[in-house]
Amino acid sequence: MARQTSKGTCTFCHGEFSKQAMSRHLETCQQRIATEAKGGSRLKAQQTRKFHLVVEGRDLPMYWMHLEAAASTTLATLDRFLRDTWLECCGHLSAFEIGGIRYAIDAGMDNEWDMGEKSMRVRLDKVFSPGQSSSYEYDYGTTTELRLRVISDREVAAKGNAIQVLARNIPPVILCEICGKPATNVCSQCIFDGKGWLCDDCPGDHECGEEMLLPVVNSPRVGMCAYTG
Ligand SMILES: [Zn+2]
Ligand SMILES: [Zn+2]
Ligand SMILES: [Zn+2]
Ligand SMILES: [Zn+2]
Repeated sequence: MARQTSKGTCTFCHGEFSKQAMSRHLETCQQRIATEAKGGSRLKAQQTRKFHLVVEGRDLPMYWMHLEAAASTTLATLDRFLRDTWLECCGHLSAFEIGGIRYAIDAGMDNEWDMGEKSMRVRLDKVFSPGQSSSYEYDYGTTTELRLRVISDREVAAKGNAIQVLARNIPPVILCEICGKPATNVCSQCIFDGKGWLCDDCPGDHECGEEMLLPVVNSPRVGMCAYTG
């Protein structure tokens, strides 16, 4: 798969920026400021502390999102959000690792300190602060690993969701290895060798058979296990 400079789209103004430039843009996006001003005055909302997070595929950093998450929400909610937007195929296990401590999806069911893992039912402001990094894994078998960074925090007159997408990468264009058109399928076997990307016309020519193919989706879990987006 060819490496390309990864651009993304701002949720508010639909402007295109690189992953790095996006943090700066989001601070000054006039559309965002206008949207938030509207929400704040209409509802006379209370001030809420929110974190600005960047999450990306550890091995596939061209897949990324800028998120804003309420400090009072939990790792479990963030896990649910990541599954819904990017990852969920068959209800695999998942865990965050923050400052050397693992927070796992099913920890604390019987014994809180079992395996040294803690429960994900912990507030974000107990584990996150600006500058903090964390890793996350979904599925301990065919693992998709993510990296998270806390960019900043701020007080907002907020309403809306506990977690909001501020910006997201534009889908990278990957070409069919047979004919060179944009690929729409990927072989769930060959992807481990960086191969098996195919357009809609070419799957019949693939040696593993069409049943091994998964759709190409805008996610760091593309082509893994049974993930179809
Ligand atoms: Zn914008
Ligand atoms: Zn699966
Ligand atoms: Zn093709
Ligand atoms: Zn194959």
